[in-house]
Amino acid sequence: MDLFEYQGKQYFARFGIPVSPGGVADTVDDAVAQGERIGYPVVVKAQVQVGGRGKAGGIQLADNAEEVRKHASAILGMDIKGHTVNRLWIERASDIKREYYASFTLDRGARKHLGMVSARGGIDIEQVAAEDPAAITRLHIDPVRGLTDDEARKLVDDAGLDQEARPGAADILKKLYRCFVEGDADLVEINPLILTLAGEVHALDAKVSLDNNAEFRHPEWKEYRETEVLDERELLARSKGLQYIGLSGSVGIIANGAGLAMSTLDVVNQAGGSPANFLDIGGGADANVMANALEVINTDPNVRSILINIFGGITRGDEVANGIVQALGRVHIDAPIVIRIDGTNAEQGREILKTHASDKLMSRPTMLDAARKAVELASLAEARR
Ligand code: GDP
Ligand code: MN
Repeated sequence: MDLFEYQGKQYFARFGIPVSPGGVADTVDDAVAQGERIGYPVVVKAQVQVGGRGKAGGIQLADNAEEVRKHASAILGMDIKGHTVNRLWIERASDIKREYYASFTLDRGARKHLGMVSARGGIDIEQVAAEDPAAITRLHIDPVRGLTDDEARKLVDDAGLDQEARPGAADILKKLYRCFVEGDADLVEINPLILTLAGEVHALDAKVSLDNNAEFRHPEWKEYRETEVLDERELLARSKGLQYIGLSGSVGIIANGAGLAMSTLDVVNQAGGSPANFLDIGGGADANVMANALEVINTDPNVRSILINIFGGITRGDEVANGIVQALGRVHIDAPIVIRIDGTNAEQGREILKTHASDKLMSRPTMLDAARKAVELASLAEARR
């Protein structure tokens, strides 16, 4: 789950990372009131979950109430890369001397945490990585040992931050690492981390992505869920307790278990197709769950065929087959459906499907066969359009 900048800064503040004082505003009048409360000059910042707000005109300095009014009016309702601005963050303006970059993420391949620091902050880090990879200092951190004081100091030294910024930056790195680990984040990023004219170091922007798997131990994340930006289908799926991720292809995928869903994505790609989504129905695959899953996929206009890939375990193959047949009696599906059932009672399941087979419903014995058929049907449907 991604946080807005203002939420990320509030999260940072809980771990002692210095940020500028500020407040949110959903209307122009609120923005002016925040400016009066905070004291000028302030920065009026669009709250959307996409980078490059500055370049898009979504970040403006204001010296008085009149300027706040002018900028807030222009930015509220603005479209930034497909995201509409509904909320502003107004904060005390900083006098910037230098802009740096700092982040922590998980490097799954290395099974370690990865810290990155650069003296070239304020611009897109991908751009820095492409133009001048040596300008980013990387450090793998053993998650058991954590980030030591020495490592934090070495990071800022190696990255070549200005001498006067180093102690403050190393201190922030330690706090940012704690925020990453104890705050259960997948990513924490400060871009820019600034050195002010007064010689202080603090976070001017915040990007925080929380690890959904840790939500059970963070009751305070509830407020982030309330402001979460989900598309219509993601909302529908969530309300039905399904794990759904929208993708841009044409083959809708339903599988039980995240691992199987991921393998199914791979096999669809291998068969020359492109997945329209990732939908994990979890353990139970009864008629109700199946109908819900089909209903979610059905609302995606890009779906040309549906591939259902189930490995029967506790939920037996015959139950799954019956579930699919019943679900189809409840939801009208336009796209043809290809099913692969394996595992417990797979044979009985396939028999049930055989009695209902048509050009809209078919079963295939292996994952690859099923994926090939689904991809073929999707391209046929595409060609007919
Ligand atoms: P992003 O463009 O979405 O990454 O938004 P940021 O919050 O990173 O702001 C973009 C740029 O706006 C920063 O790199 C700064 O150059 C500028 N900016 C943001 N806040 C301030 C501020 O308080 N004072 C000044 N002078 N510039 C700021
Ligand atoms: Mn930024």
